Amino acid sequence: MSFVDNVINTTKNVAATAGKKTDEAIRVSKLKFKATQLTGDIKAKNEKLGALVYEMAKSGEKDTEAFDVLIAELDAINAELTDIDKQLDGLKGVVACPSCGTKTDDDNTFCPKCGAKLPEKPAEPEPEVTIDEDKGE
Ligand SMILES: [Zn+2]
Repeated sequence: MSFVDNVINTTKNVAATAGKKTDEAIRVSKLKFKATQLTGDIKAKNEKLGALVYEMAKSGEKDTEAFDVLIAELDAINAELTDIDKQLDGLKGVVACPSCGTKTDDDNTFCPKCGAKLPEKPAEPEPEVTIDEDKGE
């Protein structure tokens, strides 16, 4: 169990009776932590990608397989990060404008900045990131 899991579990136990707001705060912390990890992963992959491009340029040999693998990995991480961002927005009651990206109250129908139609208010997001319960073992 990681340090963060311990902190989150401890917080959860202490605040077990504090209700929905606390659960939301825990989910936000957990999601933010995951987002930080993913951002670090993206940075590392980008560095690898840069090194690979440099090697290919220097050697004149194209390792397209390694290149494709890195691109696919980056796409997957980016998709996961986008999903987490959406979940965080849902918890905060905001929505990103599909046209200009401005974050605005999810009760709005139109973007206050560019006037684009905003997506329907999403349903309560499912808890994608599960909190490890102590199984008492
Ligand atoms: Zn907009």
